[in-house]
Amino acid sequence: PGREAVQGLAVLGATGSIGISTLKVAELHPGRFRVVALSAYERAEELRALCQTWRPALAAIHAPETAHWLAQSLADTGTEVLAGPTALERIVCDPRVTTVVCGIVGAAGLKSAWAAVAAGKRVLFANKEPLVMSGHLLMALARQSGAQLLPLDSEHNAVFQCLPQPRAGLAGAGVRRIVLTCSGGPFRNTPASEFATITPEQACAHPRWSMGRKISVDSATLMNKGLELIEACRLFEAAPAQIDVVIHPQSIIHSLVEYVDGSTLAQLGNPDMRTPIAHALAFPDRIEAGVTRLDLAAVGRLDFEVPDEDRFPCLRLARAAAVAGASAPTVLNAANEIAVEAFLARELPFAAIPQVIESVLEARPVVPAESIEAILEEDRMARECAHRVIGGHRAKGVV
Ligand code: NAD
Ligand code: MG
Repeated sequence: PGREAVQGLAVLGATGSIGISTLKVAELHPGRFRVVALSAYERAEELRALCQTWRPALAAIHAPETAHWLAQSLADTGTEVLAGPTALERIVCDPRVTTVVCGIVGAAGLKSAWAAVAAGKRVLFANKEPLVMSGHLLMALARQSGAQLLPLDSEHNAVFQCLPQPRAGLAGAGVRRIVLTCSGGPFRNTPASEFATITPEQACAHPRWSMGRKISVDSATLMNKGLELIEACRLFEAAPAQIDVVIHPQSIIHSLVEYVDGSTLAQLGNPDMRTPIAHALAFPDRIEAGVTRLDLAAVGRLDFEVPDEDRFPCLRLARAAAVAGASAPTVLNAANEIAVEAFLARELPFAAIPQVIESVLEARPVVPAESIEAILEEDRMARECAHRVIGGHRAKGVV
């Protein structure tokens, strides 16, 4: 969109952490953004409140019964309420929507992200799991459709900001290496002997970021950084060996790009998702995000450490899946989603999350992942396998 054109926003996952932060930025710029569509999975009351504030043309919620209730309670607002499996695809293809914010959590966001890229929209990706599973195909699809893919994940947004635009491949830009920073999560200094008793509440209490429960657990196991490593390979068309991870507990540097001449560029800011969201919403312009300004003297010091892959094997597993390529990242992601769900339901100990993922990766052969259908099928098989592995562990009393 040109500088003056109003962007029509579709916020998928509007009731989530990313969705709410997006709307907070949009609220600051009423002349620049119009909210055309909002979606949520459940939490219908919250979606209704958002619709009353934003008056979108379209709203979507998962269950048809809930959609019926929502439509009745929004009858006087002019919002059309959609439900069911194709609602999100309809939203992203609506001609009034120019910009799609993918804020759904997990593989559940894949079909809508895919449809948004196919429709040639400006697509802002927070939802990293579809990129992990099918980023190679999404990048190719974007080249065909003319979609503009912009990263919201803070690390990838930082890398994007540290790369020259327009980009001509990492080698062409003189990039030697990408360094993703990682807060280390809530258990950075917790001995492995204490991992067995970690509760979902402890795992979801992240020291730097306030996020949804799934990504909070991923941050605690460091699988989030593992997924981000694969996400970076996809978005920047990098080899896994070109991506390093460094622990940086203050979360002020959001990632770095090292060039062949020895220069390393970093993007800094307070840990607040409104910064990458505002960047991607306005790119290539810059807009106010409403965040607290960075005061380096108040921060005082920035620390860096090597990640401990013995205590946090998820990082090693993700790197191996990135190297194996093809279906391996899909299998890793699916097994992780099921293991995290089981942990949050108190059916699996924290320390068993990487064990389950490793077992599923060993059980599933690496197969080509050159179509969305093949990827979705592998996702389904890996989920079944993960349920079996978790069932087996529980039956044996191993976990
Ligand atoms: P969240 O749990 O707070 O919100 C998830 C949203 O997705 C909710 O609106 C929910 O209604 C919707 N949703 C859930 N399941 C769905 C389904 N099956 N179908 C349709 N909609 C569904 O999650 P979040 O923290 O906002 O994270 C969203 C995505 O962004 C994740 O992929 C996460 O990894 C990524 N991300 C989040 C942050 C952050 O700071 N929260 C940072 C970087 C990346
Ligand atoms: Mg991140």
